[in-house]
Amino acid sequence: MNNFIKENLDRIEERISNACLKSGRSRDSVTLIAVSKTKPIDTIMEAYEHGIRLFGENRVQEMLDKETEMPKDINWHLIGHLQRNKAKQVIGKTCMIHSVESVELASNLSKYSLESDIVTDVLVEVNIAGEASKYGVAPENLRQFIRQINSYNGIRIRGLMTVAPFTENQEDNREYFRKMRQLSVDIKAENIDNVYMDFLSMGMTGDFETAIEEGATHIRIGTGIFGNR
Ligand SMILES: *Cc1c(COP(=O)(O)O)cnc(C)c1O
Repeated sequence: MNNFIKENLDRIEERISNACLKSGRSRDSVTLIAVSKTKPIDTIMEAYEHGIRLFGENRVQEMLDKETEMPKDINWHLIGHLQRNKAKQVIGKTCMIHSVESVELASNLSKYSLESDIVTDVLVEVNIAGEASKYGVAPENLRQFIRQINSYNGIRIRGLMTVAPFTENQEDNREYFRKMRQLSVDIKAENIDNVYMDFLSMGMTGDFETAIEEGATHIRIGTGIFGNR
């Protein structure tokens, strides 16, 4: 075993701290989610052994398999597209679902959560750049969407999530992160029942510093920790 993952984690941690410093934020206002999709358990366990307890997966079955095999003090974040017919399987297995973008999915998640006597934290995925290839609610439909799902008592709408465009230069995504932050602030100000807007999940390996500067509370880093997939 080499120190590849430890060194990556140290480097990422330093970059997070610097971005926090630069933007006058405290380090603990930013939560790092290690995106472990496609990576085998022994690799993920190296990150675990270096203190990581939050992991992100984008496929239901893969997350459930890893959840079964790995230590129980891990919190699993479901960050990928979730089909509504798989909603039941994930209830109680994930601490937050980042990718709610349809009323039917929200309804199913709520129903199965209530059946299990729990409330599931969710984020609404926003397609902030209007990319045809991306999931998410269009920014102009967001308010109406949130008002369609806020009465589902089995979910708590904790905030917003986006996957910004792929770019070589993270400065290009600043405008999108800024728009996300503004949407979040505006919706929070409406004081809608069951809508908290205290979380903003944005920023990946290629753009997390800019996301932090623009207000991300959760960053999702895969390649920067585990290497290429
Ligand atoms: C894969 C993935 C990430 C991590 O991407 P990296 O560029 O490897 O850091 C973050 N968010 C989502 C939704 C993903 O699917």
